[in-house]
Amino acid sequence: MTETKFIFVTGGVASSLGKGIIAASIGKLLQARGYEITIQKFDPYINIDPGTLNPYEHGECYVTDDGQETDLDLGHYERFTGIKTTKYNNFTTGRIYQSVIDKERRGDYLGKTIQVIPHITDEIKRDMLYLGKKNKYDFVITEIGGTVGDIESQPFLEAIRQLKWELGKKAVCVHLTYVPYLAAAGELKTKPTQHSVKELQSIGIQPDILVLRAEHDLNAGLRRKIANFCNVSPDAVVQSLDMPTIYEVPLRMQEQGLDATILRKLDMPVGETPGLGPWRSFLDRRHKATKEVNIGLVGKYDLQDAYKSILEALSQAGTYNDLKVKSHFVNSEKLTPENVAETLKVYDGLVICPGFGQRGTEGKIIAARYGREQNVPTFGICLGMQMMVVEFGRNVLGLNDANSVELNPTTPFNVIDLMEDQKNITNMGGTMRLGGYECELKPGSKVAEIYQSEVIRERHRHRYEFNSDFRAAYENAGMKCVGTNPETDLVEIVEIPNHKWYIGTQFHPEYSSTVLKPHALFLSFVKACQK
Ligand code: GLN
Repeated sequence: MTETKFIFVTGGVASSLGKGIIAASIGKLLQARGYEITIQKFDPYINIDPGTLNPYEHGECYVTDDGQETDLDLGHYERFTGIKTTKYNNFTTGRIYQSVIDKERRGDYLGKTIQVIPHITDEIKRDMLYLGKKNKYDFVITEIGGTVGDIESQPFLEAIRQLKWELGKKAVCVHLTYVPYLAAAGELKTKPTQHSVKELQSIGIQPDILVLRAEHDLNAGLRRKIANFCNVSPDAVVQSLDMPTIYEVPLRMQEQGLDATILRKLDMPVGETPGLGPWRSFLDRRHKATKEVNIGLVGKYDLQDAYKSILEALSQAGTYNDLKVKSHFVNSEKLTPENVAETLKVYDGLVICPGFGQRGTEGKIIAARYGREQNVPTFGICLGMQMMVVEFGRNVLGLNDANSVELNPTTPFNVIDLMEDQKNITNMGGTMRLGGYECELKPGSKVAEIYQSEVIRERHRHRYEFNSDFRAAYENAGMKCVGTNPETDLVEIVEIPNHKWYIGTQFHPEYSSTVLKPHALFLSFVKACQK
């Protein structure tokens, strides 16, 4: 058996308590002590991956470099720790069942009756241990989606119960709960936490550490009470209060010794507390920045989680420009040629957001035109880039009703078209152009200057592409194709050189912007937005 240690992160009482941030913070703190870590997430829903899920259901779909559509928590893992996640860092119930059913059809189970226990739980255990076996990590942190008590979570918790038993001192369970404040009574209530821990215990898991989410400070007495009721040592109860930014969380966890407690529970030497210098400087700079930049996010969702990575990339870029980025949702369905100037004039820059389907796309085209004509810094991402191309086609090249065939299959000018290898695809799940591809930048272009590089690698998630038949017409009229795929020659980036900042990328740069390595395009964009 490997010497890798396993940290399981479960949640109780309510969802949305920030399990992903706690898992990412634990990763960050252990990494700062010189350990190799990775973080994975197990999601109890039946979709094979979140790629087919509506952002209203599930928020943004995050994409790994190796092309897996994953939960947005993987974005937090990468942003906090700088690790690169893979398809082995996110599993769903659906994917686990699919693999078990495939094995059953192959006859691998030699006539056995296939059951949740042991076959599904064994498959879960194998997946939970996999990264530990493969890559020599010191720690594998495993976050379980959902809340203890959910029917769907049970096989995952049973797998953890078994693993904790098998791994002994090599595994700990960190359980995140919520301590509500009842205003009428003027009291913080510990009962939901007690119940949630009881629920875990009834499954056979004794949490080693409790992280208590709360909106009011939990005094030592209260924490001792919880420790007492829940069979955890008092030093293993830490609180997680609301923070002005999620990037404060690792510091608050370190102050309360969360990482040190984890090491102690795993019988590992604790050593000195790392200084987290660069992280602290980032936060200092962030707090000192007062000058605001207001950015309009033109899209059809007015939902934080739908554009999570874009919001984070913008705000990181703000910090490194000593600016405070304020992002505002602009509902593209409501934009008209009549109200566009009035609606958008308050913003210093525009992001034309990614997306799928017709709804709200005419508004994105209207916003792209406004940004282009008014010389407002404009950043088009994926569908946003495609809408910039459509707009330019219609209003500069005079291609009436130019469109993407995704939005109008009978357009006379298919400036964005389905790729040849996408034409025969009938399954929607996992069949897009996904993950990292290289892109060559045109020497002398704005993007080459921004990236300070000739070849870059960025992550994709789309079916449609710039139609190269129109390339010369666009270039001649002033929209340059400045990034191309070296293998297929597909256009990946367009820019208008004689505009303040007008760049559209077919890929998603937001996925690779991290706290300590902000993305060059976002840095440059936010800088250009500064008045
Ligand atoms: N719907 C577009 C396509 O499939 C863009 C996708 C996106 O914005 N991620 O090409």
